[in-house]
Amino acid sequence: MQGYVMSRKKICVIGATGSIGSATLAIVRQFPEKFEVVGLGAHSRVEDLQRLVEEFSVPWAACTGISCCSEWKKTSRLLVGESAAQQLIEASDPDLVISAIVGIAGLAPTFYALNAGIDVLLANKESLVCAGELIKRMRDNASLRVGRLIPADSEHSSLDQLLHRQGRDQVRSLVLTASGGPFLHKPLSELKSVTPRIAVAHPTWQMGPKISVDSATMVNKALEVIEAYWLFEVDLDQIDVIIHPQSIVHALVEFHDGAIFAHLSTPDMRGPLSYGLGIEGQRLPNVMRPLRLADVGALTFLQLDNERFPAIALARQCVERGGTAPAIFNCANEEAVELFLQNELRFVDIVPFIEETLQCIEATSYGSVEDLVEVQMKVASLKSEIVRRCNHG
Ligand code: NDP
Ligand code: MG
Repeated sequence: MQGYVMSRKKICVIGATGSIGSATLAIVRQFPEKFEVVGLGAHSRVEDLQRLVEEFSVPWAACTGISCCSEWKKTSRLLVGESAAQQLIEASDPDLVISAIVGIAGLAPTFYALNAGIDVLLANKESLVCAGELIKRMRDNASLRVGRLIPADSEHSSLDQLLHRQGRDQVRSLVLTASGGPFLHKPLSELKSVTPRIAVAHPTWQMGPKISVDSATMVNKALEVIEAYWLFEVDLDQIDVIIHPQSIVHALVEFHDGAIFAHLSTPDMRGPLSYGLGIEGQRLPNVMRPLRLADVGALTFLQLDNERFPAIALARQCVERGGTAPAIFNCANEEAVELFLQNELRFVDIVPFIEETLQCIEATSYGSVEDLVEVQMKVASLKSEIVRRCNHG
């Protein structure tokens, strides 16, 4: 019995109360003999966090959005405040951190874990988008013992799985698929009246509100191009995007002999998450509903329409510009989505808001996570001005 307990992988989930956090914990429920949850982090949903902590008998918890909690049951230790997620990682001493916070708020704890030599299963793409250069420098530094970065995003997990056996030197291109979101075929003139409720209703994936809006604007795919650039270290022009409305093929790799390998499954985040959580490359059985291709019938693919979805070309320019440009892109999007969800910015103004912000703030080189937090604050300080510009544009 002792050996059985000892062999479980110790995991710490930050962003545990969200969609990715819930999907991760659903896998733990399915395989309690394989995982031990040693830490759970949330931001504002303290009651949900308390329930999860009790269910999984977790010794350490963290809540970043509060400064105290008198109702917290004393069966576990609760860390609070801005840097509680980093403290949680330190205190709980996991084998793997599941980075599932939404937005740049996930950067500091993700960076902390990697720097401490702890492996990270990364859903929080925003941190790699903002700090790709910094993280690459850290990973390239042979004198540091940096944790492994394991992709959880479905496209990137698929690429990771497809590239498993073959060298990057044989790759012609990496192709990310995009469902096209809820507005793939909506006349452009009708996008002005899109409400938050309609925008967050994604046709194929169940996700949190921010990434759902990102999928509708295709900023999500733009962030994913940058994410792939830093994860797989190929040239930017080797990363392509193709529209695939069924979300069955998650990514493709074209090798230099002309062969294309594709990764297929039902659209269910438990697939990539379980692969990333998997022990020594072992796939966990029966995590997703089996895919019956005859029931799906047809798989279709369409060229990306850059007029409808200008965010991807803009993201590519930011990578080329380098320095803080991708962080400005990301932080501007976070502000714009927040404003849209509060009905203070129109859906069609989200990408122009990002463009305007990139005009207003000069991209510079940077050297630390703190520099990027400064970028975030600068973007936030300009948001009213940018909204005004969008309204008069
Ligand atoms: P959700 O909105 O469902 O959950 C977000 C989580 O982050 C919650 O646990 C929330 O805590 C926490 N959080 C929010 N703000 C802060 C903050 N300032 N500091 C610390 N924690 C915070 O998002 P998703 O689960 O959908 O997405 C999480 C990440 O995973 C995103 O980066 C997204 O792009 C990525 N991703 C998501 C996919 C999906 O299918 N959902 C697919 C691929 C990637 P609380 O609820 O307690 O406030
Ligand atoms: Mg994705």
